[in-house]
Amino acid sequence: MQGIETICLHEGYTPKNGEASVLPIYQSTTFRYNSVDTLGDLFDLKIPGHFYTRLSNPTVEAPEKKLAALEGGVGAMITSAGQAATLISVINIASAGDNVICSSAVYGGTYNLFNVTLRKLGIDTTFVDPNISSDELSALIKPNTRLIFGETLTNPSLDVLDIERFAKVAHEHKIPLIIDNTFPTPILCRPFEFGADIVVHSTSKFLDGHAAVLGGAIVDSGNFDWEASGKFPELCEPDESYHGVRYVETFGKAAYITKARTQMMRDLGCMMSPNSAFLLNMNMETLPIRMERHCQNALAVAKHLEQHPKIAWVNYPALESNKYHELAKKYLKDGCSAIISYGVKGGKAAAKQYLESLELASLEIHVADIRTCCLHPASTTHRQLTDEQLVECGVSPDLIRMSIGLESVEDIIADIDQALEKVNV
Ligand SMILES: *Cc1c(COP(=O)(O)O)cnc(C)c1O
Repeated sequence: MQGIETICLHEGYTPKNGEASVLPIYQSTTFRYNSVDTLGDLFDLKIPGHFYTRLSNPTVEAPEKKLAALEGGVGAMITSAGQAATLISVINIASAGDNVICSSAVYGGTYNLFNVTLRKLGIDTTFVDPNISSDELSALIKPNTRLIFGETLTNPSLDVLDIERFAKVAHEHKIPLIIDNTFPTPILCRPFEFGADIVVHSTSKFLDGHAAVLGGAIVDSGNFDWEASGKFPELCEPDESYHGVRYVETFGKAAYITKARTQMMRDLGCMMSPNSAFLLNMNMETLPIRMERHCQNALAVAKHLEQHPKIAWVNYPALESNKYHELAKKYLKDGCSAIISYGVKGGKAAAKQYLESLELASLEIHVADIRTCCLHPASTTHRQLTDEQLVECGVSPDLIRMSIGLESVEDIIADIDQALEKVNV
């Protein structure tokens, strides 16, 4: 296998003699064919090829192949946003009447999706503490439970999930583990190496990294045995909505990701546009060097904050004081990504004064950008949650989330210091 830097630059698009060196933008909804039978075979999934951009497009395919190679999966599907990827990853294998298990420490939008919208669709979610014991987790799995869902490094509470332990419990019950790997990216953690079966991403974060393109992705490891499980007839029996295709029999290890595309994307239409995929693909080319510097800068900022008299607490798993330090050494050995959370002494009011005093770091609803940005989750991204739910998600009222960018680290620290100076404790 090639190194990650090489994959980021070369996987997904290989120009032939005389072709454009840079991935072309196929800004076309459709593709022209000479033979009716060829088009028929494409429809029947008998031959590979593009025929309508809702299902696939060569420009979108490039970052899909790149991401699949980076995660070590058999295939990937890019979506219009991370939320669409999470939704499809679940409803591809769970239906009304089924139960799913989700870690309670997840992105606010994910929590809502499981807690509100999936319930409306008849899918019941059991939320669990990410540190639940294997026995307790095992006891919560019911005959109709179809999957377990969690985040490698949670947004915004920064819990590190013991993926291997969760995968073991899931597999004992013949169900897959789906991991949202947005914060580490495959540069820092590859969940399939620890037993996860499906990975989802919000590509809007580091994969794009320039705050330019919203997007999501699902990657299939190809490792889960849907047939042996006996719990997923939709993947094993003929799909009447798709010419009676049997996904496992026809597509083998790529059964799950093929169904996600041919059935879910066909019906939901939440694809990424070719223009956006061009930008995503280009930005992914520099992912490894960006992640390395993001991690370096974030560690320096975390260490600085930890010894600052006006800071109440700092949460960053790479710090030795962190309760997830041991798990981070296993799952995030090359770095803990660039999101830090911390509290300014003086609570909510001080947090507000501090955030409004920052000059270089921008106050915005985003993370994982090349520019340093920050926000106060309790009054923004998580404001729809009750105080009880906030605590369940690991978000205290004074929590500040800061995403450390690629500016000179001295400048980031100087900005923090001048803003803290203005806070009256
Ligand atoms: C942002 C985010 C999402 C949602 O992604 P969108 O692209 O904004 O829809 C999902 N999971 C995590 C961990 C995120 O940070």
